[in-house]
Amino acid sequence: MARAKKEITCDAVVVGGGPSGRITALALAKTGVKTALVAPLDAPQDARTTALWKKSIDLLKDLGIWDDILPTAEPLKTMRMIDGSKRLIRSPETLFESAELGVEEFGYNIINAELNNVLAAACSAEENLTCVDDFAENAAFSEEKAVITTKPGTTVSADLAVAADGRNSLLRTSAGIEVKRWSYPQTALVLNLEHTLPHRGISTEFHTPTGPFTLVPLPGRQSSLVCVETAETAGRLKTMDKTLLARELEDRARSILGKFTVISEPQTFPLSGMTAQSVISDRLALIGETAHVFPPVGAQGLNLSMRDIADLISAVAAAQAKGLDIGSPEALRTFEHKRMADIRSRTNAVDILNRSLLTDFLPVQAARSAGMYLAGKIGPFRRLLMREGMAPGTGFQLRP
Ligand SMILES: Cc1cc2nc3c(=O)[nH]c(=O)nc-3n(C[C@H](O)[C@H](O)[C@H](O)COP(=O)(O)OP(=O)(O)OC[C@H]3O[C@@H](n4cnc5c(N)ncnc54)[C@H](O)[C@@H]3O)c2cc1C
Repeated sequence: MARAKKEITCDAVVVGGGPSGRITALALAKTGVKTALVAPLDAPQDARTTALWKKSIDLLKDLGIWDDILPTAEPLKTMRMIDGSKRLIRSPETLFESAELGVEEFGYNIINAELNNVLAAACSAEENLTCVDDFAENAAFSEEKAVITTKPGTTVSADLAVAADGRNSLLRTSAGIEVKRWSYPQTALVLNLEHTLPHRGISTEFHTPTGPFTLVPLPGRQSSLVCVETAETAGRLKTMDKTLLARELEDRARSILGKFTVISEPQTFPLSGMTAQSVISDRLALIGETAHVFPPVGAQGLNLSMRDIADLISAVAAAQAKGLDIGSPEALRTFEHKRMADIRSRTNAVDILNRSLLTDFLPVQAARSAGMYLAGKIGPFRRLLMREGMAPGTGFQLRP
């Protein structure tokens, strides 16, 4: 902890203590970059869970923290899509199985609180990382330096600042980076459930006319639920008596997991989107929800942020190998070049998928239905979708 220290000079400063910020700080520090993290020391409280695909898990393994998360994580072996609408044109049920790709699991469902706690402990213990236990109050960027100041007056100067301070980022605004924002007529109700039947590693997504209703396995006979609804219905469900709520959710899930018991406080998240017009500025890189926000459809948000982090680390390593400083325009341009296409394509894919569920327009329903039919029948197409869902650009490597 560095509260007493008033002036800190380092190679990189990361601002924001959510998963993106802490993973970046840890990754930079472990690659030998002298790093400071400006964030409250205590891990943020978050009762949600996150489905992380294999490449994201690999990054956590490289950082040496996966073994601490694994005991409370559940492998995701099968993805089942069920058309839960009563529409004229409906999609057939489709199964995506990790074994078909020759892997044990697509990834794991992890408990956010567990991830945040493990990350907070790892950051505190990392020798090459100075933790500044506060929020950033001011950020200034020039061609030479990034300077972050906290309320009590601690100043951190660095060659590179990484903004991981979330969707209303102070750093992004201070650098004058514009964003495009939009909203959806939907709210996600999120909670955890206990059920009487085993989930067998199957994540089930019902496609309903208001959005997905997704059950994702947790250890034992437990699952997390993301139920995308109208704001009005989500609000009604959130305040419902828990026994009645469990019954209503069980009906919606067609009792595939038996009887439900609600085991966490229901939370609601209005769905929205945001994309930063650029992910770099002088001495600044944006990552995670500072750069991109989209609905929780297809478990893409933090997985995309993990690719931001991997690309940032590789741009930093490339700069070091060339003897450049890590916040130089060339290093930042390399990072931006790698990120923009991935961010745009994921944001568009999630947007199209989400809107295709909402529309009553028959040709769109027919196209979605045909896509699911083809995925069910044609192995190479199904495997391509599975690979693209887990990591972009790998879909065309049709191995097994
Ligand atoms: C219902 C739901 C389900 C989801 N499920 C999945 C999933 O299954 N898979 C997936 O990949 N993604 C999922 N996501 C997306 C994922 O949760 C987000 O992408 C992720 O939490 C964003 O992390 P972050 O660190 O980028 O941002 P945040 O978690 O928002 O962290 C930003 C941090 O910065 C801090 N901060 C703000 N201002 C300052 C400041 N001035 N100084 C210092 N710190 C500051 C904030 O306090 C906060 O801790 C889901 C999202 C939702 C809403």
